[in-house]
Amino acid sequence: MRKVTSGRKIKITGIVQGVGFRPFVYSMAQKYHLKGWVLNSSQGVEIEVSGLMEDIENFVSQVKSQPPPLARIDFLETEEIQPNHYKKFSILNSKPQAGEFVPISPDVSICKDCTRELFDPEDRRYRYPFINCTNCGPRFTIIRDIPYDRPFTTMSEFTMCNTCQNEYNDPLDRRFHAQPIACPECGPHLSFIGEKGKEFHKSDALREARAWLRSGKIVAIKGLGGYHLACDAANHAAVQELRKRKQRSQKPFASMAFDISTIDKHCFVDESEETLLLSRQRPIVLLHTRPTSTLSPLIAPNQNHLGMMLPYTPMHLLLMEPEEGYPEVLVMTSGNLSEEPIAYEDKEALERLSGIADGFLIHNRSIHMRTDDTVARIIYNTPYILRRSRGYAPDPLPLSFEPPSLLAVGTELKNTFTLSRNRYAFISHHIGDMENYETLRSFETGIQHYENIFKIKPEVIARDLHPDYLASKYAIKRAAEENIPIVNVQHHHAHLAACLCDNGWKMDEKKAIGIIFDGTGLGTDKTIWGGEILYGNYAGFERKHHLQTMPLPGGDAAIRNPARTSLAYLWQLGIDWGEDISSVKRLDLNERSLLEKQLQGRINTIETSSMGRLFDVVSSLLNICHETSYEGQAAIELENIAAPDEHDNYTIPIKDQILDIAPLMHSILKEAKSGVKVAAISARFHNSIVQAIVQACIQIRAETGCSEVALSGGVWQNVYLLNKTIKMLTENDFTVLRHRGVPPNDGGVSLGQLAVAAAMLITR
Ligand code: ZN
Ligand code: ZN
Ligand code: FE
Repeated sequence: MRKVTSGRKIKITGIVQGVGFRPFVYSMAQKYHLKGWVLNSSQGVEIEVSGLMEDIENFVSQVKSQPPPLARIDFLETEEIQPNHYKKFSILNSKPQAGEFVPISPDVSICKDCTRELFDPEDRRYRYPFINCTNCGPRFTIIRDIPYDRPFTTMSEFTMCNTCQNEYNDPLDRRFHAQPIACPECGPHLSFIGEKGKEFHKSDALREARAWLRSGKIVAIKGLGGYHLACDAANHAAVQELRKRKQRSQKPFASMAFDISTIDKHCFVDESEETLLLSRQRPIVLLHTRPTSTLSPLIAPNQNHLGMMLPYTPMHLLLMEPEEGYPEVLVMTSGNLSEEPIAYEDKEALERLSGIADGFLIHNRSIHMRTDDTVARIIYNTPYILRRSRGYAPDPLPLSFEPPSLLAVGTELKNTFTLSRNRYAFISHHIGDMENYETLRSFETGIQHYENIFKIKPEVIARDLHPDYLASKYAIKRAAEENIPIVNVQHHHAHLAACLCDNGWKMDEKKAIGIIFDGTGLGTDKTIWGGEILYGNYAGFERKHHLQTMPLPGGDAAIRNPARTSLAYLWQLGIDWGEDISSVKRLDLNERSLLEKQLQGRINTIETSSMGRLFDVVSSLLNICHETSYEGQAAIELENIAAPDEHDNYTIPIKDQILDIAPLMHSILKEAKSGVKVAAISARFHNSIVQAIVQACIQIRAETGCSEVALSGGVWQNVYLLNKTIKMLTENDFTVLRHRGVPPNDGGVSLGQLAVAAAMLITR
């Protein structure tokens, strides 16, 4: 049979730029003797090839099935064309097009090849802290503008040496078009600033930083997405000093160790946890602490977990390199004062952190976008993201529907925002708690940056019902200025929608049950919701059941004060403030009488059905935590103490719409008085919630036939509750939808707001 020459045009969209896609296409074209070209267009990658029909078929199928490790193909279109007369296959220059966009790769942890070269004395980049290649290195944090080319990154300040330039130009080199390519001759360098501003450079800087850490000092370290504060994790005095200077009394610190076997000395690490620790995102993974761990208990007070991560840049590898007498594990907590965003600009960092750090390990590659470390854990052998940031952002979530261009501004705590374009939701990196000017500024510049690099002009803005949140205020102001519509989305409806989106729910798909357990969110009836059992989809919801409403004295301030909240709950339920109740003892007689007056007159109190607050109350009743210094502390400590093998529970009757907590509270007090172990009571309390969920779901299923249950809201960070709920619901033939790509907490709310707004616009 005669061989037929033919031609093909191929268009690919997805994460195909800055990930070695063109050299890969080049080598595949060589393999199949095809002529033509490949280029980066604004939509992705375009290819034209000519050759034998059979070779073209093989070429296309291999491009599809074996793309480079960092690439993700979302759509691939091919078109039959007349064969061309190119002499060879070539890589053409990028072809930017106004208004178009391509997804941008998140930062990628150092790859195996680069790690090998880093420690190879024969390599020209031996011990060079900024080694990277086409498959690894900084991306999102250094990108100023698109297309992703060196002049539009913070690497534009460095002129490549001839050797780097040759590697950059050679399609067969593993650094072909690696935009952050650098070497000791032409790239960025480390500096250390120590006592009285004395400076050290390059390897001296690293040596000095290590010496300071070894001697128990606190060093601020400039990394990939911002500054960390580091100290020896086994040095109790150093950790204590860091807590004092950072004004962070209890909130856990994350740590870094050189390798898995070091982490394994201090924490239990199973196979899926190891895979997640080693993944190219290298998140902080929450792991069960071994009782034999020698690290300071002040790293995570009253917790049975430690947040651990592995080095993700060459600099971190050099910093953590094992040596006799050198710390095996370093605390690596974000470089900020409590509640401020992570520092990332050098001048700013030196100013802001000078009261905390003894010395500074810095470098001269600028960070354009700050990103915190991502935090995740493993649930039923799969990742469960609690803070989505470095390594994940700005990877878009492909949607199962196509919204117009939208901006959803998120909520007050753990803020993220989300923008949509085509079938993508661009969920921002973690912005933080919107409580101060610094965070607001980083929220605003973040939105600007995303809109610019992804060329999105929102047609509609979605916000929380609460008009006083800083994010809501931004939305209201901007919608007015640009004269575009604004959609107000109820907080827990957004949680439900986020969870559905996270599970690929389509726009016209049926309703699901939403168990939305949370701290705070404004309800449609002006009370504060948070213990909600909803039934709905993107387009709308019904509030089927909710936790009994209770008075919260002092509003938001009560959140830091579980003891006061617990007294308010007892008062509302008509339970005496007996001296034998541990939370009662926390308030003196004067405070109690003031509180009573406040409750009687309903002065400065708000009504809440919050599940988060119920956990606070129980935590205080059991003498576990009476005052919190970070969000969720009382609940976390209550969870940590719960006996894993306890199966008993109390009852939570469902009366009409209400989950009645009176019998539960009576039982807890009775058992606490009669000396039942706190571990058992905590477990039984958790089990009671699980029971109530299953009971409510069975009722709703009987009524509606629905057996899909979505779990969302901050309370679902509680793994004891999550594991048992998933198990019980599954045993009762429910399909459980739990979060996968976005956090169950308020970090996921912006995605939900976006989906709800999209439903309003699409179905209108
Ligand atoms: Zn590499
Ligand atoms: Zn160079
Ligand atoms: Fe929430």
